[in-house]
Amino acid sequence: MTRILPDIAGIKSLDPQGIVELMESLDAPRFRAKQLQEWLYGKRVSSYDEMTNLPKALRAQLEQDLPLYSAKVVKVAKSKDKTRKYLIEYSDSTMVEAVGIPSKGRLTVCISTQAGCSMGCAFCATGKGGFTRNLAPGEMFDQIALVADDFGQRVTNIVSMGQGEPFMNYDATLGALRFANMKEGLNVGARHITISTCGILSGIRKLSTESEQFTLAVSLHSAVQATRDKIMPGVAKFTLDRLRSSLVSYSEATGRRPSFEYALINGINDTPNERDALVEFCSKMLCHVNLIGLNRVPESRFKPSKQGVAEEFAAALRKAGVETTIRASKGSDIAGACGQLIQRR
Ligand code: SAH
Ligand code: SF4
Repeated sequence: MTRILPDIAGIKSLDPQGIVELMESLDAPRFRAKQLQEWLYGKRVSSYDEMTNLPKALRAQLEQDLPLYSAKVVKVAKSKDKTRKYLIEYSDSTMVEAVGIPSKGRLTVCISTQAGCSMGCAFCATGKGGFTRNLAPGEMFDQIALVADDFGQRVTNIVSMGQGEPFMNYDATLGALRFANMKEGLNVGARHITISTCGILSGIRKLSTESEQFTLAVSLHSAVQATRDKIMPGVAKFTLDRLRSSLVSYSEATGRRPSFEYALINGINDTPNERDALVEFCSKMLCHVNLIGLNRVPESRFKPSKQGVAEEFAAALRKAGVETTIRASKGSDIAGACGQLIQRR
């Protein structure tokens, strides 16, 4: 059971199992847990008063022990490409950003799993801002719900590519994604929910034992140890060798294929040597490579690769049998693209 930050997040500090255990601890019948989950994450009410099929005494008890707070949108920025970025505030004034990306009848919501991030990747705006606090399951869920409400559209996909490292807040992240996946919640298919990690091995291992088929993405960004250590110092202790074998085990256990995120940075990870190392790393393992253009980050010395480099990388990878996509970035004009989300207080 996850029960982080109950003072700050109240009832939203609980994951699905936490709600079941809460009801047990209050000697309420089992079906009450389902009802409460539906009110909170299906109907998404903002007060216990609205939970009309729960006994008054139970509502009063809950109100007293675990208040019901709701996050609110304080700012929306709209991109030319229809992407919208939201600044969202919690009851303790902590703020995070979430992004909504509509395309062809789909709505992808990109959520933050922490306020800030402690991993310190050199190319990422979030990493430069430092870490404030972990988010609770219901707080992360609120981001998804607020974006869906603003678009007036069903959420079809979720990615944890906002602020924060999901595997540094594993239980709460899984809790939020379960609420999104459950039929009492948003009923978003598990395969349409992607967890993106910078490569925390314990998280990869744990994810392979979960019953849901969530999709795994790993921020690779270099297959040369010295380069990766420089641009991703927070994961230097998890060497590329260990990362690779964790992913091979993950695929063996789940039958699923992880994807790699690789943002091409001029002169850093886009040289022929880096390309060969990437091809070597990806060959003979189940994976899919997403080549991303580096998004602009304030005060950063890194520049995106020159034209044509992504195509060269893609050709070399495909020749070696590695499935590869060159991904267009969305929302960069509103600083809402990958790695552009900064902390505001
Ligand atoms: N902490 C997790 C998830 C959030 S970062 C992770 O690192 O995977 C979301 C994605 O944006 C990651 O793939 C990250 O590597 C990428 N990213 C960070 N900064 C970027 C930038 N400046 N340009 C393009 N992608 C970036
Ligand atoms: Fe954190 Fe991910 Fe940014 Fe690295 S890329 S600093 S892990 S949010």
